[in-house]
Amino acid sequence: MLRFNALKEMGKRTPVAITENGKRSELFAQNVFHEAAMRQFMTPEAFNSVMGAIRYGTKIDRRVADQVATAMRDWAISKGATHYTHWFQPLTGSTAEKHDAFFEPVGRDRAIERFGGGQLVQQESDASSFPNGGIRNTFEARGYTAWDPTSPPFVYGTTLCIPTIFISYTGEALDNKTPLLKALTAIDEAATEVARYFDKNVNKVTATLGWEQEYFLIDKALARTRPDLMIAGRTLLGHQAAKGQQLDDHYFGAIPGRVLAYMRDLEQECLLLGIPVKTRHNEVAPNQFELAPIFEEANLAVDQNSLLMDVMKKVADRHDFVVLFHEKPFAGVNGSGKHNNWSLATDTGVNLLAPSKTPMKNLQFLTFFICTIKAVHTYEALLRAAVASATNDHRLGANEAPPAIMSVFIGEQLTKVLDELEGVPSGKLSPEEKTELKLNVVGKIPDLFLDNTDRNRTSPFAFTGNKFEFRAVGSRANCGKPMMVLNTIVAKQLRDFKQEVDTLIEQGTLKKDEAIFNVLREYIKQSKAIRFEGDGYSKAWEKEAAKRGLSNHKTTPEALRENLSDQAIALFEEMGVLSRVELEARYEIALEEYVKTVQIESRIIGDIARNHVVPTAVRYLNTLIENVKGLKEIFSSNYEAIASEQIELIKRISEHIRVIHSKVNAMIEMRKHANALSSFEQRAEVYCHQVLPFFEEIRYHADKLELMVDDELWTLTKYRELFFS
Ligand code: ADP
Ligand code: MG
Repeated sequence: MLRFNALKEMGKRTPVAITENGKRSELFAQNVFHEAAMRQFMTPEAFNSVMGAIRYGTKIDRRVADQVATAMRDWAISKGATHYTHWFQPLTGSTAEKHDAFFEPVGRDRAIERFGGGQLVQQESDASSFPNGGIRNTFEARGYTAWDPTSPPFVYGTTLCIPTIFISYTGEALDNKTPLLKALTAIDEAATEVARYFDKNVNKVTATLGWEQEYFLIDKALARTRPDLMIAGRTLLGHQAAKGQQLDDHYFGAIPGRVLAYMRDLEQECLLLGIPVKTRHNEVAPNQFELAPIFEEANLAVDQNSLLMDVMKKVADRHDFVVLFHEKPFAGVNGSGKHNNWSLATDTGVNLLAPSKTPMKNLQFLTFFICTIKAVHTYEALLRAAVASATNDHRLGANEAPPAIMSVFIGEQLTKVLDELEGVPSGKLSPEEKTELKLNVVGKIPDLFLDNTDRNRTSPFAFTGNKFEFRAVGSRANCGKPMMVLNTIVAKQLRDFKQEVDTLIEQGTLKKDEAIFNVLREYIKQSKAIRFEGDGYSKAWEKEAAKRGLSNHKTTPEALRENLSDQAIALFEEMGVLSRVELEARYEIALEEYVKTVQIESRIIGDIARNHVVPTAVRYLNTLIENVKGLKEIFSSNYEAIASEQIELIKRISEHIRVIHSKVNAMIEMRKHANALSSFEQRAEVYCHQVLPFFEEIRYHADKLELMVDDELWTLTKYRELFFS
């Protein structure tokens, strides 16, 4: 039987032997076309032109593009590449590529390796097979991918991958990268202006991102016995194991040999691709792990995370593992997230969210700190929408994950600082007041951090000393979306801040620092409702948050609606990040994805219940019936007392089978009803509130059967076997 064969196969596995290819520092970015490689392969003219594009967004002209392409080709061939591809991130959330060979025949008996500026800069792509939300007619199936020089090309396997954006024929974004780049430009502009209040030398501000990727590893043979894991990426049935994570012995525990071999192999691949992986450890749940790199400029970090997820799957396959990125693969076991650590860095080498030694620099820190809090307060529902997906719904609000309510945790010490600032008198400050403020409030901030160890794991958006950590992002998500939203809302807030401060200064009564204090004080008051230091998982917080007017969108269809609010459209249009048409298209795509996800899961749970669970239960039922018949033959009239357990079991099993059948039928009927609805919005509603609830009911009865039916007969690999492998 499949399950026992898989267990046997798994039992025989040994760790794959890994050969270390030299010192790790020497591997780093070997397969990336970074600055050193560019210098070596490019003409000075081409090099300067690309550096200008990277640093200042200047255009690269067509003639120079040819030189760049030639250099890239020569470098890639020197790394063993035979093909090239534009590498992009369509709205499916994964990555897409279309490989072309460098090879090109010239005449009958001669060929060259060809790659010109035209092929580098822009490519036509069949966009009809990617989600486009009606922006493109499918018969007019042309979209363009265009080179993003700010993210370096890399060689993976034998292919030169060129990071690109993906846009429709009419110019609308069809990917995650295009609006992200626009949001990063917006925050660069807005933050630079504000940073220049404090230091005139600042000319550029970069958003930084350090993600932490959580994932599960399951033995390949075992995973293959479970159609739910293979297709949906999560288990739709399965009784909890007797020993789960109750003992909390997995976190930071010893990493098992097979997993360690996987991690080492993965780290080598990552280093070659320039992904600066640094930490690895076990997570809370059995078979759950985490990988985190050193932070990078946000666009590059997003690309690296997308690439990483692909590499992880490929390496896992070599090690006979399946890697699960689903946010909640197992009921009753911790889910996976992808914390997004975010900050802002100036070209003068300052982290704008790090407290510093001088009062003036700390006023700068407070400005960015408070503006971020205010932005999160104003746009909390939009931030929630940015992490909404059918898969993340199972994690957000479940009792180990950040809740669906957005709030900001800053710790006791900074709360005190903000409380003091709130008490600053409005208008002009006396010299004494100023000194007091600068020395005793603002000036004290760096000391606070020496003993600031306060961490609140239940907060979805926490300040962690020199960055904010957005924890509600799902492990499966492309971080491009939450990063796009976060940077856009903070950019908008900084822009407004600048305007308010400038207005106060122009009125002539207040000096710059007084004006800044005045605006910040108001921001602290206005955004108080978003600050929460307590237990984010508690029922009391749900009540309190509702009183504060914070949204609590528990499902994706509900959360997504926020993207089309007047506030959202005005924001994205003002910041030049997304147009109304693009927002509407994205809304439709996201709903469609939601519906498809639930629909597929519904089909799978129906199939498993009918084809695995029920037939197995019936088989066992038949042996029980045979047994009772036998007892009757032997004991005739006395048999009922003797066979009472079996008879009871027969009744119970029959009842579970009956309920499963009727629930599966009702679920299928509801699906039919949903599918006949004309709008995606209505369909998503029905799938969310009328199809999805059947899962729990079916599961309840199937899991009961798992406990009753003879283990020898059960076809699906059990939780206790999937873990501790
Ligand atoms: P922790 O104690 O939570 O592990 P670390 O300082 O080690 O905190 O950082 C955790 C994550 O935060 C890492 O992925 C790291 O790359 C990222 N990180 C650190 N500093 C920044 C920053 N300035 N901007 C963005 N991410 C950062
Ligand atoms: Mg973290």
